[in-house]
Amino acid sequence: MAAPQHVRAAPLARALRASATATATATVSASAPAPAPIKSQGTSRRALLGLSEPQLRQLALDLGEESYRGKQLHDLLYKSRAKQIQDFNHVPKAFREALLGAGWSAGRSPVHHAVTASDGTTKILLKLEDNRLIETVGIPVDDDNKGSSRLTACVSSQVGCPLRCSFCATGKGGFARNLQPNEIVEQVLAIEETFKQRVTNVVFMGMGEPMMNLKSVLEAHRCFNKELKIGQRMMTISTVGVPNTIKMLASHKLQSTLAVSLHAPNQKLRETIVPSAKSYPLGALMDDCKNYFLETGRRVSFEYTLLAGINDEKEHAEELAELLRTCGGGYHVNLIPYNPIEGSEYKRPYRKVVQAFVDALEARKITVSVRQTRGLDANAACGQLRNEFQKNPLLAIEA
Ligand code: SF4
Repeated sequence: MAAPQHVRAAPLARALRASATATATATVSASAPAPAPIKSQGTSRRALLGLSEPQLRQLALDLGEESYRGKQLHDLLYKSRAKQIQDFNHVPKAFREALLGAGWSAGRSPVHHAVTASDGTTKILLKLEDNRLIETVGIPVDDDNKGSSRLTACVSSQVGCPLRCSFCATGKGGFARNLQPNEIVEQVLAIEETFKQRVTNVVFMGMGEPMMNLKSVLEAHRCFNKELKIGQRMMTISTVGVPNTIKMLASHKLQSTLAVSLHAPNQKLRETIVPSAKSYPLGALMDDCKNYFLETGRRVSFEYTLLAGINDEKEHAEELAELLRTCGGGYHVNLIPYNPIEGSEYKRPYRKVVQAFVDALEARKITVSVRQTRGLDANAACGQLRNEFQKNPLLAIEA
């Protein structure tokens, strides 16, 4: 089914302004006091999921309980995986009622729909409190050489996306709002419950632009690392580039990979594929990537979606190699042969064209990999499944 029609997207400038405001104070501290249960965008209650043990202990104290009740909440959320405060059987009824009375919820959403592809890739739609749907994807990989198996969670950071990259199903579906930290964290829990297996890797590559919701992304990242014990090096935060945010992320010195979606080797072509690139010249983006590597020691992964006849020629590869030289030594190129979506004129390049692109980069000593297509038969492109089920158009938030 086609993407919803009559979608009204937030103008980019307004979206970027909102992002700058949201990210200006993007700091995360596990020992910060428990936040007040205020009504937040899209939700009527403040969620417990996403909070640290010190925050939960403080919350227990604030509600007149002993501190160890906070530890019990922590176990209920992250070990028992209780989904509602009414199910918190380990704590007294009076405490449960106090939590509910103070406007708290556990912060979990029901699974609305799930689809599994023949290779095991599973897309899950979660139905949020305001009836919006978000997509999250579990990608299982058996590593035959090591005899181990990985489970990667591809998580969304926004409901829809305002950036409207020309090849992207999410961008075509419009934008509604940023996700709260619990709404990001619960995606990993839903995948673990579906697969009955621990998630080993997290990539912030689902619906939305993570840098436009950096505060929630950083809080979820902290929670994945500290509460769910997923190593920082096992996580990747992706962006198409939002001015000033890579510097901000670098200042946190996370040991996670930054993945930058380039998709073109020059500004002119890039603007036709990624309209938001108009506000972020390629030179400035590459400088910020170089500084990210210098500040964190983590190499940047440049994502490049290969679109047949658009950006997949040998000359593009050569130009890309030249561009990357401006970025110092800490980078890797990840080529993504395009996954066709309904309503798009872009096509997937032939295998030999992809190989020629790889050869041209390798001849110039660029480290490159080609992303294996997963779940092609399960509405694989980001946002496609959500577009099928989200019957109502996503409306932009009024400024
Ligand atoms: S590719 Fe990413 S940033 Fe671009 S529209 Fe899609 S979700 Fe948004």
